Amino acid sequence: MPSTAGQVIRCRAAVAWEAGKPLVIEEVEVAPPQAMEVRLKILYTSLCHTDVYFWEAKGQTPMFPRIFGHEAGGIVESVGEGVTELKPGDHVLPVFTGECKECAHCKSEESNMCDLLRINTDRGVMIGDGQSRFSINGKPIYHFVGTSTFSEYTVSHVGSVAKINPLAPLDKVCILSCGISTGLGATLNVAKPKRFNGGSIRIGSSWPCCARIAGASRIIGVDLNPKRFNEAKKFGITEFVNPKDHDKPVQEVIIEMTSGGVDRSIECTGNVNAMISAFECVRDGWGVAVLVGVPHKDAEFKTHPMNLLNERTLKGTFFGNYKPRSDLPSVVEMYMNKELEVEKFITHQVPLSEINKAFEYMLEGDGLRCIISMDE
Ligand SMILES: [Zn+2]
Ligand SMILES: [Zn+2]
Repeated sequence: MPSTAGQVIRCRAAVAWEAGKPLVIEEVEVAPPQAMEVRLKILYTSLCHTDVYFWEAKGQTPMFPRIFGHEAGGIVESVGEGVTELKPGDHVLPVFTGECKECAHCKSEESNMCDLLRINTDRGVMIGDGQSRFSINGKPIYHFVGTSTFSEYTVSHVGSVAKINPLAPLDKVCILSCGISTGLGATLNVAKPKRFNGGSIRIGSSWPCCARIAGASRIIGVDLNPKRFNEAKKFGITEFVNPKDHDKPVQEVIIEMTSGGVDRSIECTGNVNAMISAFECVRDGWGVAVLVGVPHKDAEFKTHPMNLLNERTLKGTFFGNYKPRSDLPSVVEMYMNKELEVEKFITHQVPLSEINKAFEYMLEGDGLRCIISMDE
């Protein structure tokens, strides 16, 4: 097989030309990786809410044309100067945030907020030289969160790429590069439920499996979409609350259901009212709420300070406190050891040429994860 290292690769990518308009499959040119970068052949990617959010660009800075996509699995095609940890052929998950291993955050056991590579949704170029590696007829196409996986080939900083077990099926574990790991980490690492074995947890209805792994006995799903309830039952949800079914704030409903509030609460939608509700439904004395979803850029969190003085804790997390390179391989191993179910999340699969269907499924609230296979 002739090597493509050092050469421009022409391949298919789904390009977003305008906010909210269907993606267009284009032939793009992908430049070779520069210093501390790797070029990946993406085999499978999936659609996450964050892609849709920035594609709609209603609450965020519009940046087009752009190649979205950040949940994916692939194989290293070639590496740039200075890259020693990865080599062509390695199986990897690209991640929307990174780990340089050298900054104060990377050296801290507590943080995964790398100074160099933490997520920056407003940057559409490579961090090294401020240029894009994607172009069409010489016109640059913006990157998205350092991953841009809706392309057969993409270029990432080496610090945003986790090397994983080559035996792990990439069409399954690709979804561990964002959503599920975020939910799992928010539950296991940040809410730290070891202290409440058997307790209650309020969680977005797509992540109850994470609460079950954590040992919660009452798992209360909150969702505006009643269609999600049946799906959520498969994941171990024990009770379901639809805010639309009640004429009082949902936090009051949950406090009544649990005689005082839940032990832990995880909020993943990014809706600021849901965030406030998630906090206000935790029990005083020891309740912990963890915010995960990305809010509107103008959102403000308002609650009475007494809610904190009463010994409730409010926390936020990015990527579940996992360091991408150091920790993600072990999440993949949880799947390989059958401790973490991934298949249940995958409700649809489409070829790259039909990627817009994945957007339709998500906008209609149909299913959870749609895998996009790049080789069809
Ligand atoms: Zn995501
Ligand atoms: Zn760092």
